[in-house]
Amino acid sequence: MGTSKAPATTRTREEFARPSTAGACTDTARTPSGPHRPPTSSARALVLMRIGNRRASTGPPLTVMGWTGAAHAPPVWHHTLPRRTKRQHDGGRLAGCGRSTDTMQGLIQEGNGEEFVRFSNDIEHAADLTPRQVRVRIMAAGVCGSDLSCVHGKYYMPTPLVPGHEAAGVVVEVGSAVSYCKVGDHVVLSTFANCGHCAVCEGGDPGNCGGLGGMRQSYVENGTPLYEFANLGAFVQETIVMENQAVPIPAEVPFSSAALIGCGVMTGAGAVFNRARVGPGETVAVIGAGGVGLNVIQAARLAGAAQIIAIDRAPAKERMAVDFGATDFILAEGDDFDAVRAVQELSGGGVNHAFEVVGSTRLLADAISMTRAGGNTCAVGVPDLTASVTYNFQSLHQNKSLLGIRAGGGRPRKDFRLIADLYLRGMFKLDELVSNTTGLDDIQSAFDALKAGAEARTVLLPNG
Ligand SMILES: [Zn+2]
Ligand SMILES: [Zn+2]
Repeated sequence: MGTSKAPATTRTREEFARPSTAGACTDTARTPSGPHRPPTSSARALVLMRIGNRRASTGPPLTVMGWTGAAHAPPVWHHTLPRRTKRQHDGGRLAGCGRSTDTMQGLIQEGNGEEFVRFSNDIEHAADLTPRQVRVRIMAAGVCGSDLSCVHGKYYMPTPLVPGHEAAGVVVEVGSAVSYCKVGDHVVLSTFANCGHCAVCEGGDPGNCGGLGGMRQSYVENGTPLYEFANLGAFVQETIVMENQAVPIPAEVPFSSAALIGCGVMTGAGAVFNRARVGPGETVAVIGAGGVGLNVIQAARLAGAAQIIAIDRAPAKERMAVDFGATDFILAEGDDFDAVRAVQELSGGGVNHAFEVVGSTRLLADAISMTRAGGNTCAVGVPDLTASVTYNFQSLHQNKSLLGIRAGGGRPRKDFRLIADLYLRGMFKLDELVSNTTGLDDIQSAFDALKAGAEARTVLLPNG
């Protein structure tokens, strides 16, 4: 069975400069409305095209993603209420690094919706350090698309909780058995609270450890326990994590740049290095050129990809995509834009690796169709966790692989340091990913920037 499509027409750059009457895409928030300014740097081929109306696939729908045995049901979290004690300072070990008060500033999500996120001056740790835990003063915390998804209830997190999961800081206290880091170390925080000693961890797959951590209530506010998002809860002045979650990096890396290594950078670059394993001379398409997509692009460039096609609906993304290594940029304007055909035409029939970074099930189906026979379709973006994907069977049938990728398949203690070293050698961009820095109480503007889709990353500075 085939899909009938209208013949392609190509619009010039000048034609795109006129306001469009096309409807807004539902997968990303921003609809181009202003004039499209040509970039000063040029991609090898800048393609701006509109192809006729998309038709629904006539192939049999198949479901490929969902919760095993519990489709359309939210996951069940394991609740753990830690011992509620007042934190005791150890003046000798802190060596002047400890906080002077027991309460901290931070953000609390009390329900699903941005209006349920508020600032607090009264957050405390719920318990003292266990032997393998460390306390980290958070110097920078990126606001990632997953934070917005968490706040919007797409991850079914229990509340109240402290959001945030992409951070860097300084170790200010260590438990009695900690050997991975020491007080004063600059660290990037990992969301993997893996055990570190099971067969899976020993085999080099910490992200697949069965003991990644449940939902802990590691903070309290005026006696009310608070959950933490993604084993961290980083939008707060200090956090307590397992020692293997605090990965030391050279102090030369600025905190605001280092923070992004923990999620956005690792998610994008890890998808290329660890899962797709892009090789020299191969072709790549990246749907979504935001904070994660730009890292897919620059990692693919480092891996030696010959063609890297970036696709986004925001004209402003073109310049950054090209700077990060894209050889082609497709402006996908409007609901009826056929990005599949655009990629197939640019790449001569499809790419070796197609990355969906937006978190749209429809775009993931498109990514399958963009992939050439024998290639990889990479599901990097995260939609609602109970979402199902429907795709035309024929689109995947030609020996393609559909890869589920969580957090870049990362091995934090190896990969975080690798990224930091590449940055210090001038081979990997981090500073350019930071669009803006601001305080915890300005979280709404960070959410607004994410929804607008015009920026790479807002980074919060919990300690000023
Ligand atoms: Zn393990
Ligand atoms: Zn993230």
